[in-house]
Amino acid sequence: MTEAPMTEAPTDPAADPAADPAADQLAELRRWLAEHWDPDLSLRRWRELLADSGWACPSWPQRWCGRGLPAGIARELSAELRRAGVPGPPEGVGMMLVAPVLLEHGSDELKDRFVRSTVTGEITWCQLFSEPGAGSDLAGLGTTAVRDGQEWLVSGQKVWSTGAATADFGLLLARTDASVPKHQGIGAFVLPMRQPGVRVRPLRQMNGHSSFNEVFFDTARLPAGWLIGEAGGGWTVARATLAHERRLAEFRDATLAGAEGLAWREAAAERAAAAEPHKWYPQRAGRPDLVIPQARAHGRAADPVLRQEVARLIEMSWSARWMADRAAAARAAGRPPGPEGSLGKLASSRIARQAARVHAMIAGASGLLAGPQSELGGVIAEIAVSVPGISIAGGTDEIQRTIIAERILGLPREPDPSKTMPFRDIPKG
Ligand SMILES: Cc1cc2nc3c(=O)[nH]c(=O)nc-3n(C[C@H](O)[C@H](O)[C@H](O)COP(=O)(O)OP(=O)(O)OC[C@H]3O[C@@H](n4cnc5c(N)ncnc54)[C@H](O)[C@@H]3O)c2cc1C
Repeated sequence: MTEAPMTEAPTDPAADPAADPAADQLAELRRWLAEHWDPDLSLRRWRELLADSGWACPSWPQRWCGRGLPAGIARELSAELRRAGVPGPPEGVGMMLVAPVLLEHGSDELKDRFVRSTVTGEITWCQLFSEPGAGSDLAGLGTTAVRDGQEWLVSGQKVWSTGAATADFGLLLARTDASVPKHQGIGAFVLPMRQPGVRVRPLRQMNGHSSFNEVFFDTARLPAGWLIGEAGGGWTVARATLAHERRLAEFRDATLAGAEGLAWREAAAERAAAAEPHKWYPQRAGRPDLVIPQARAHGRAADPVLRQEVARLIEMSWSARWMADRAAAARAAGRPPGPEGSLGKLASSRIARQAARVHAMIAGASGLLAGPQSELGGVIAEIAVSVPGISIAGGTDEIQRTIIAERILGLPREPDPSKTMPFRDIPKG
């Protein structure tokens, strides 16, 4: 069951031209904060107040931690919460992907069971999509979910699962029917991670970090009602999730400066733990911010060849920022995430590669040295080995180009006979 659209306005401003719903809501939020914010509250208690008042996620439906407000007003309210210097809902996959997808596609039972506990930070999530043989071709996934009475039994393997070692639940895609074409035989599920049928093994990356995991399912179990949507409707859920994921790049970290009290101490500890797998992500984005200081430090700021490359980087970064602003304005106007996410994703890859190239031109061979005594304490070397990840995570550059070609430019679709044949007849391996 899908809820009423989250963008639906509860009042009609046209009925009273003097009314300013945003100003009214802001005033109400300020009054509420003055009455309820107490830095000595525990983080959990504070988030329970936020969730139950609807200020945690103002665009979500009232029954599930929101106020049913239009997205534009909700953004202003979230900005006001940040200005007020209070901790917000937890960051990460639960709030950014799972809860929005449950609100769009989950049953009321699933929303009741999982949305509030996600907003309060009581439970954490990971995403169980990619498999060793199904990354770009995600619809070719082979992990199976078989109905057995009041349960689903899950067998197979996932890979690249960020946070799977600590998550309480996973958003899982699994094959429910191999006799139909691949996109039609997938289910989306909520899978409890802490059970005997689930084994998680961390991976080690070439930049030395360990952010991802392999996850093995050996008859893992979940309740029948924890299917999201219909048994063959998992692909719709997957697409909704990926659309939310492609705009994760805009996520903004609220500052902790000057924050005091128990709630903030707990929020800082939680944030540090959540940020651990992502602490190399600035390097993955190429660190364009370091390019000009590095050129100056190496006495290369007047080098005409280098200046051309820096100018190219700045030009790419600025146009990507304007495109992101345009997408944000579209969302504020209540439009759902669209294919512009692919343009932004592709732009981030190109910017990261150009920044890495400029860093290599500036640092020369010394930029390959890792460790604390090397160029910028190893940051330049870390950029070189982290940048390739941005062109792969969340859909590779080639896949983004296909999406742009087909959905934005309207070019003919890539031929794929496996789209129409039963999944079990598709040659594997
Ligand atoms: C940093 C990072 C974080 C990640 N985080 C997660 C996560 O949290 N959860 C999760 O589920 N997954 C995650 N992934 C996995 C990621 O989604 C996959 O790696 C990605 O979709 C590519 O799949 P693959 O690795 O199987 O490569 P393949 O799909 O095998 O692709 C190999 C190469 O072939 C190209 N290719 C494939 N198909 C086509 C085509 N039709 N046309 C043109 N070229 C094609 C690709 O572009 C690529 O260059 C992460 C990956 C990275 C690098």
